[in-house]
Order: sequence, then C-alpha cells, then structure tokens
Amino acid sequence: MRIHSVETRLVQLPGEESLAGGPMPSGLTRDFVTATVRTDEGIEGIGFGFLFGNRLTTALKSALDELCGLVLGDDPLQHAAVHRKLSQAISAGGPEGLALIALSAIDIALWDIKARAAGLPLATLLGACQTSLPAYASGALRREYGREQLERSASRLREAGFRQMKMQLALPGTPTVAQELDMARVVRDAVGPDTDLMVDINHRWSGRQALSMAPRLEEFGFYWLEDPVARDDYAGMAAIAQSLATPLASGEAVFGIVPFRQLMQAGSIDIAMVDVFRVGGVTGWMKVAAMAEAFNLPVTSHLAPEISVHLVGALPNGLNVEYIPWSFGMFQEVPQPVDGMLAPFGRPGLGLEFDADAMRRWGSAPTRIGPR
Ligand SMILES: [Mg+2]
Repeated sequence: MRIHSVETRLVQLPGEESLAGGPMPSGLTRDFVTATVRTDEGIEGIGFGFLFGNRLTTALKSALDELCGLVLGDDPLQHAAVHRKLSQAISAGGPEGLALIALSAIDIALWDIKARAAGLPLATLLGACQTSLPAYASGALRREYGREQLERSASRLREAGFRQMKMQLALPGTPTVAQELDMARVVRDAVGPDTDLMVDINHRWSGRQALSMAPRLEEFGFYWLEDPVARDDYAGMAAIAQSLATPLASGEAVFGIVPFRQLMQAGSIDIAMVDVFRVGGVTGWMKVAAMAEAFNLPVTSHLAPEISVHLVGALPNGLNVEYIPWSFGMFQEVPQPVDGMLAPFGRPGLGLEFDADAMRRWGSAPTRIGPR
C-alpha cells in the first residue's frame, strides 16, 4: 500500500462550551489542521492537529503541508518508518512544537488507515484492554465563572450523567487564598461528595505558591491536582507530589516522549496525562503508555476524546478519558458517554468521518498534496 495524496485544511470551529452551555467570549475559535491521507488501494485515513490560542495556525498548516509532501509514496502501514523519517525531517527546526503537532496529525491518519485496512476499530487493533472508560467532563467549570454559573454548570453535568468532572483554580487576577478555597468549596458542594472532582491549575502557580496552596486543597478530596507549576519544573512538581495525598497529574504540555522520562524518573507525577497531538500521535502515545506502566503509573488523556477513547482503552493502565468537545464540530458523529462511561465506535479505524458541510463552513479550501 502506498500513500497517493493528502488533502489538508485549516478549520476554525466556534469556541463554545457545549457540555453545560456556559458562556464563552464571543469570537473565540478552536483552530485545527486536518489531513485526509489517501492510498493507492482506496483506503483513506484522517488525522488532525490542534494548537491552543489561535496563534501560528497558518504556520502549523504550512508545516503539515510540507511534511505531507515527504510521505507521498510511503507505505502507510509502516508507521514507525514514517514517524522516524518525519522526526528526522523536523529535528533541525523543532523537534517540538508546531512540527511535532503536524507530524502527529499524519501519524494519527496512518493508524486510522492501518485499522481500516485490518477491518478493526483502532482500540481493538491496539489491544482493547478496556471496552468502556470513565469520561470526565472538562472545560465546563471555568475559573472565570462566578458561583451561580458554576452551580448551574455542575448540575447540568450531573444531569448528563457525568460522575467525574474537572474545575479550575488559580483564579483570574490576584485572588486571595480564601477566595481560592471558597471556589473549591462552591464546586465541591455543587457536585456532591460522590463525584470525582479534578482541579486544574494550568501551570499558573509558582513552586512556592503550589507548596503553600496544594495542602490546603486536600480537604476537598480532589481526584487529582493537575499542572500546578511550569510544565518542565520536574523537581518542583516532585516536591509538591511528595507533600500531598492528592495525586498529581501532568504531561499534557510537554512534547514528545523524552520529557515523560524526566517526569517519571523525578517522581513528579502520579498520573501521566498524554496529549496525542504533542506526544507524536498514536505512535508516541503508546510509547509513553508503556513507560508509565513500567513506573506503575496510570494514564489519562488530554483533548480529542474521539481519538483518546481508543488509546486509553488499549492500556492495562488506562484511567479515564478527558471528555472535552472542542473538536466535535468537524465530525459527522462522535462517541457519546452513557452514564458517564465512554466506548469507541465499533467501526474500523477511528470510526470518524469529517462532516463535509462543517468543513465547508468552518474550514479553508482544501490543499491537495500529490497527484489528482
Ligand atoms: Mg489541563
């Protein structure tokens, strides 16, 4: 089998909060690049990449187009060979950041092709250790919301059946310790004691702040404390992790597989959070998952539940899936949680198809790489 051509797009979806319907700033978009990889045997695979912050998406699209040009004629089933070739191609200009996100989009499409060629859902191709996983609601309990909105959103998430959900702390501005603790109490009271509640700091605390704040959060029984400090403060995270009973989760913001070695060796994390776009696609994901297993650590996902449900489900140490709907608008259909549990589609591959109308509405004109 050979890669015949690739069609790419830049897609800018409305940045709504659709899980609980909370307010979001007007004009916000979530920006993706997409790749539809076509083979000489008629099988197509889809992949995509995401970049936070509505910046550099044109550069990401350009990187994707250039890398797609390098894989024409390659065997898509040799994902490791393609991954190595592209890793070498980006090494001088990366190897992290935009180039790796573009590489990941192609890698995801190759795994979609591989699973479609095998006639299997990707989860099954990868081992399908768990057929159904807890989905935790993410992005709906936002730090800029006030008490009433948090209570409203929490109750909608519970009505939708979620038994796990995530809030944010490190409130905007210069909050007092009392304000932070008050917000934690508001949300814990709203979701009740039986809900697994996570808290995300999004790297906003200094090491000193984290050492001061994190122990005061223990009383709320958080399921995990996420990204308390800078993504590469391995020693700082280890000190925080060792001071807490609450598990520390991190990893979404590092690129590739090597930083996970640092995080694990330093004892910085209790839960490895892996982002399929930053880790190097499915190929990178499975390597980090195995590394985590060797350190007796569970793995959770970051973004793209429609992909991650296959990946977390493949693992003996898979914990749960971040259910965040940012990319859903691109697809005809996405997996939906039932009673808070998520299963991948039973169709071959990722089981996803781009929605042509959505692509026309929110996407750029397609770029064709390779022959017609
Ligand atoms: Mg996070």
